[in-house]
Amino acid sequence: MLVNLRKVLLLNYSYEPIMVVSVKKALIMYILNKVDIIEKSDNSIRSLYLTIPIPYVVKLRKYLYIKPMPLALTRKNVFKRDNSTCQYCGSNTSLMTIDHIIPKDKGGKDSWTNLVAACKRCNIYKGNYLLKERNMTLSKKPAQPSYLFHLQKYKYKHPTWNQYIYL
Ligand SMILES: [Zn+2]
Repeated sequence: MLVNLRKVLLLNYSYEPIMVVSVKKALIMYILNKVDIIEKSDNSIRSLYLTIPIPYVVKLRKYLYIKPMPLALTRKNVFKRDNSTCQYCGSNTSLMTIDHIIPKDKGGKDSWTNLVAACKRCNIYKGNYLLKERNMTLSKKPAQPSYLFHLQKYKYKHPTWNQYIYL
C-alpha cells in the first residue's frame, strides 16, 4: 500500500520535532487521542465510521520529556554533515577521507570541530601539517550538528516538515 511508504513527522506538544513515524503509527496515535494532525495531505483514509486525513505532521497532545541524545561522532555522520564534500577544495567526486584539521600528533582531537571530510588528494597534500603551513582554508567552520540533524538530512522528508526541523 502506498500509504506505508510515507512517513510522518511527530512533534512534541511544544512543537519540537521528536522523530519520524509511519503513517500507520501516526493514525493509531490519532485514533487514541494522543496527537493532533498539524499538516495533512488531501488524501484520507475512510472507514465505515470515520474519515481521517493522511497526516504529514502530527503533534502530541501532552508534553513528553525527552532527553536529547548527542549525535554519535562517526565517520558516516561527519561525511553526512559535510555532504560528502571535501571541505578544502569542494570536490565531491573522488574518494572521501576524514581529515584531522589539527593533526593527531600535534594534539588534534577526534571531535566535531576537528574532523572534516576531505578528498584523498587534499588529505595527502595536507599530511601532518597545520592549515596555515600548507596555505589551506576550510570552506566552512566545522561544528557539532544539532539534534535535528537526522531529520534535516532525512531522505524522505516532506516539504511541510521544514518549518519544524529548521529551528
Ligand atoms: Zn579536496
